[in-house]
Amino acid sequence: MTHTLNLTDAADLSRAPVDITAVLDHLVREADAAAGTSIGFPGAVDLDYTEVMTRLGSRLWNNIGDPADEGGIAHTRALERAVISWVADLLAMPTDDRWGYVSSGGTEGNLSALHAAHRRDPTARIYYSAAAHYSVAKVVRLLGAHGVPIHAQLDGEVNYAHLAEQLHRRRRFPAIVVATAGTTMTEAVDDPVRIRAVLDAHHAGGHLHVDAALSGIPLALDGRLRLDDASGIGSVAISGHKFFGTPTPCGIVLIRDHLRAAGSRIAYTATADTTITGSRCGLSAALLWHAIAAHGREGHRWRADEARRLAAYTTEQLNAIGWPAWRHPHAFTVVLPTPPEPVRAKWLLATDGDTSHLICMPGITPGQVDAFVADLAAAIRPRSRPIPRPRPGRASPANASAH
Ligand SMILES: *Cc1c(COP(=O)(O)O)cnc(C)c1O
Repeated sequence: MTHTLNLTDAADLSRAPVDITAVLDHLVREADAAAGTSIGFPGAVDLDYTEVMTRLGSRLWNNIGDPADEGGIAHTRALERAVISWVADLLAMPTDDRWGYVSSGGTEGNLSALHAAHRRDPTARIYYSAAAHYSVAKVVRLLGAHGVPIHAQLDGEVNYAHLAEQLHRRRRFPAIVVATAGTTMTEAVDDPVRIRAVLDAHHAGGHLHVDAALSGIPLALDGRLRLDDASGIGSVAISGHKFFGTPTPCGIVLIRDHLRAAGSRIAYTATADTTITGSRCGLSAALLWHAIAAHGREGHRWRADEARRLAAYTTEQLNAIGWPAWRHPHAFTVVLPTPPEPVRAKWLLATDGDTSHLICMPGITPGQVDAFVADLAAAIRPRSRPIPRPRPGRASPANASAH
């Protein structure tokens, strides 16, 4: 279908009358048209939320205040508590020392957790990797805290030696360290055990926060991310619209209860003010609850396994056409040299200079991968440009056979 609507003009509210239906139809048509080639964004597209959106989508569901509280207005509080309990159980968080809520996304989770840690230790230095998400540096600025950037390795994991050196230099100050479970470009996972050991060598009791926006749920399903006593982790932030693919951005933040400050009681809302925002999206809590109720641990484990299998397949297929791709063992993300322009014009990858990635989130199909690889193979044959070298240390040159 051809359509020539200019969305900016059509949506301009200073021009009356506005054709509302045309604007909404256009948005849906564009999203539908882009879906098949959108393989660079970390949002799952396999779960069906129609039931929740149909039943709940047209009224306000507002959860105000602390979800553990009884007072005030909180329409889907029971569902929010169920979500928090399920995720806390998954992370093996002690039942008598857990707290959390459904947030607006990974950024708010980082803000909430780092705010709690910083309030306990206002002179703390906050250490974060060069591969950390941009929200972390923003949170440090918002808190007016002292941030200490740490080098990342080429594969995206934090440089532990540099962290140790920087911690040692500032050993007079309390420390808050942000680890990432699933970095934005390569889905690298910083090792909380190693970080805890480095932290303890310089600061008994420093706070370790894990930004697990992308990989928190998949890793927890494997038992490879825990928030128990042995982990030494104080808080975890997770995005809801990534692995669970909810149709509205949201997140989950979990903080060991003894590590946070009590919020003040607000008389007119009749709850404790412990969350970053006042009103919170109760629809998000219902969507997350639905994803968990409908699929359970086994269903979500299967989703993660299938996505990793497809990522492994994608890596093999790219190497088979001589385009050196690699991935971390448990990642959905496949890292590759940035494809030539015609391929990038069609396929929505994420690109940072000469490196790009695609993400085999649940719902991405082998057919999409095959079509992408075929387009890339066609674009690089005949060879009009040299094949880029593999990234140091990761791409296996043995796999990068000539076509
Ligand atoms: C996506 C992401 C965030 C930000 O989450 P939002 O939900 O977009 O606010 C933070 N950290 C990491 C590692 C992410 O992948």
